[in-house]
Amino acid sequence: MSLLTVGSVAFDALETPFGKTDKIIGGAATYITLSASYFTKDNNLVAVVGDDFPQSMINDLNQHGINTEGLEIRQGEKTFFWSGKYHDDMNTRDTVEVQLNVMEHFDPIIPDAYQDCQYLMLGNTAPAIQQKVIERLTNRPKLIVLDTMNLWIDIANADLMNLLKLVDVLVVNDEEARQLTRQPSLVKAAAKIKEMGPQTVIIKKGEHGALLFQNDQVFFAPALPLAEVFDPTGAGDTFAGGFIGHLAKTDDISFDNMKRAIIYGSAMASFCVEKFGAERIMNLTDEEIKSRVDEFVKLSAFGL
Ligand code: AMP
Repeated sequence: MSLLTVGSVAFDALETPFGKTDKIIGGAATYITLSASYFTKDNNLVAVVGDDFPQSMINDLNQHGINTEGLEIRQGEKTFFWSGKYHDDMNTRDTVEVQLNVMEHFDPIIPDAYQDCQYLMLGNTAPAIQQKVIERLTNRPKLIVLDTMNLWIDIANADLMNLLKLVDVLVVNDEEARQLTRQPSLVKAAAKIKEMGPQTVIIKKGEHGALLFQNDQVFFAPALPLAEVFDPTGAGDTFAGGFIGHLAKTDDISFDNMKRAIIYGSAMASFCVEKFGAERIMNLTDEEIKSRVDEFVKLSAFGL
C-alpha cells in the first residue's frame, strides 16, 4: 500500500562523545523514507529544500525507490539546518542551532499521484503544516501516524491539540509524553494522550525500548543492547519509518501487527545509531534486517 511522508529534509551538524560532523544530510523525512524503503516500494515524500541541497542525495533517495516528486526545491533559498550535541549518556541532547530557512514558509504541495495514499506519516515539522497535509488529501488515509517534538509542545500547543484530534497514532519519546500530559507515569500519560485523540500511542524510551498502548492493551519492545552507539540522531524517525513501512507493506493495522511493526521499527533504529547520520540506513540489506529482527525475537523469548 502507498505511504506518504511529510517532514523535514535537512542539513545537520552533530556532536557526540565519539566525534563531530560538519553539515551532513539529515531531517525527519529523510530518515523515515529511507527506513520505510526497506518495506514498501510505494514510498512518497513531501518536503522542501533550498537550491544548496545536493542532487546526488536526491538521486540516492530515488535509488531507494523514494518518489521525490513532492520534494520542492526553492531557488535562492537555503535548506533547513539543525545542529545538536549529545550528552555522555547519548540519550539526551541539546539543540545547538536551528536555521529554519526554507522551512519558515513550507507550504506542503501534494502531487496528484500521491492523493490515494493509504498510510500517512507526519514526520517532525510544525503542527499547522502537518494539519495542512491532512486537509489537502481528498480521501482520509487508512492510518495517520504523527511524530512531534518538545519544541512544538512548547510553542505551538494549540495547533498540536487540534491536530491530535485528527490522527490515529502518536509517536513520542518519554520526555515529550510527560511534557504533553504533565503526567509522570507513562501509563497515565498514554491514557491522557488517548483522550486527546490518537487511539494508539507509542512512547519511545531510547536505549530502554518502546511501549505501545491501544485500548487497554500494552506491548513492550526492547531496544537491542548495543556495544557501540555512535550517533542516535534520526533513531526516532528511523523507528517510525520501519513501523509505518511494515504496516503499509502488510496492509494490516491490527494490534498484533502493530506489535510486529514496532519490532521492525526498533530493529531499523538499532542500525541507525551504529554510524553518524543516515549512513547506516542507506546501506542495509534485507538479510541484515532479517537477522537483526531475529535477534530481537531471541532477546526476550523465554519458556516457563
Ligand atoms: P530524531 O533524532 O529522530 O529526533 O530526529 C533528528 C532529526 O530531526 C534531525 O535530522 C533534524 O534535522 C530534525 N529536526 C530537528 N529539529 C527539527 C525541527 N524543529 N523541525 C523539523 N525537523 C527537525
